Amino acid sequence: MAPGEPFVEPTPVGSTRALAERTTDLLNALADRSTGASTITTILTRHGEIDPELDEEDVAALREVAVELRHVLAADTLEGTATRLNTLLAREARPPRLADHGGSHPWHLHADSDDEAPWDEWFAASTGLFLASLVSQRQRLPGGVCAARDCERVFVDTAHGSGRRYCSRRCATRTRVAAHRRARGRTS
Ligand SMILES: [Zn+2]
Repeated sequence: MAPGEPFVEPTPVGSTRALAERTTDLLNALADRSTGASTITTILTRHGEIDPELDEEDVAALREVAVELRHVLAADTLEGTATRLNTLLAREARPPRLADHGGSHPWHLHADSDDEAPWDEWFAASTGLFLASLVSQRQRLPGGVCAARDCERVFVDTAHGSGRRYCSRRCATRTRVAAHRRARGRTS
């Protein structure tokens, strides 16, 4: 941490917010074809993985899972979301198991086959399980694709209240400003 930089409370590993951030960080990075193993390694480290080792082949496999997860988030009905999640989980998930990775993490639920499972299996099973639990807890869409013009970032919606439509405050603001300008253009 650089001197003078404000201390930011780390988000607890395994919390809904932490998993939501990990999911969107990975999905939005993988959507960019130029993202390579070093960027994904950095993201995984930031989200609590200890010394993750990935090569470009792992990233290619992760990218395929990312496309499928993007379709899950793009579904516009709960039934569509559930169907896509069930397909993913039926293929990728194994019996749920508790893991603490030799004491380096708090006990948490895994749905991949093993601590040494390939990264794409881990990503599909853990994100599938997370989004499925979010749906069952909230009875709402677990996220979506940003509604702003020229933005294709996905988001996971963990907020209460009315459904989220934008990936970020920035996209929400620029959409509102553009709508305001259009409305003013019509009346002047
Ligand atoms: Zn956006």
